[in-house]
Amino acid sequence: MEIFTKTKNLMSYLNNLKNKKIGFVPTMGALHNGHISLIKKSVSENDITIVSIFVNPTQFLEGEDLDKYPKKIASDKKVCQIAGVDGLFLPTEEEIYFDDESEIIAPKKTGYILEGYHRPNHFNGVLRVVLKLLNITKADNAYFGKKDAQQLYLVKKMVQNFFIKTNIVECDIIRDSDGLALSSRNAYLTMQEREKAVNLSKSLKKATKLIISGERDCNIIKQNMMELLKDIKIDYIEIVDRNFNKLEKIEIKNSIILIAGFVGTTRLIDNLEI
Ligand code: AMP
Repeated sequence: MEIFTKTKNLMSYLNNLKNKKIGFVPTMGALHNGHISLIKKSVSENDITIVSIFVNPTQFLEGEDLDKYPKKIASDKKVCQIAGVDGLFLPTEEEIYFDDESEIIAPKKTGYILEGYHRPNHFNGVLRVVLKLLNITKADNAYFGKKDAQQLYLVKKMVQNFFIKTNIVECDIIRDSDGLALSSRNAYLTMQEREKAVNLSKSLKKATKLIISGERDCNIIKQNMMELLKDIKIDYIEIVDRNFNKLEKIEIKNSIILIAGFVGTTRLIDNLEI
């Protein structure tokens, strides 16, 4: 596995590969089985897999956890090596951002609801860095988790709207055995907080059961979910269609139930496609 800290070195490595299918997995590191599932999918579907680890400052708001975001670079390198990664990109901020550069603005509607409402301009930073990374790697396939459902939707939309040639591959959410969606931020949770955090996925399971039993009213489903979420400071529970339009009634195979909230000081998100 080659390690690149300079953008130009990664670009020239990739330019010298002839007729190779490139897979790319962007991450912020502290890799867990969720990330590994994306990496393995890329390794199995491409000739070359590039993983980036970059804690992107432009997607963090003032007062968020940029400075304390978990870092595990030595074990991340081992994880990537074992998973069969060909190139690991570890850029500094100076390799990615320049003085007085053009910026990307997330869609006025879908970029500023839900996550975008509670973290205003977050998606500007996400899309800005993803555009740069896709241009650097010129990947054939780039792998994103459904864990960040709105991010995935907006990345797909940007790729379409800006005529980028990369195919965006959607990857299923990987959970712990108790249902908690894996996240680098789970490392912040105390034992007691972790027990409370499981209620996020439990509430999604409860919603599934209600829907299976015939309930279609989104307000009733959300109220039922709330009963399990008393210990969590909820930012939002919302049910949208796959284009992020708010739904009043569940549409089977076209709905996503999304939750975000704080367990202690840790902000967690989860969702389920229906
Ligand atoms: P992050 O390092 O949190 O920026 O995540 C990098 C990529 O991994 C994103 O596309 C995430 O959606 C994806 N990811 C994070 N956690 C999970 C998970 N539990 N299951 C599947 N994908 C995930």
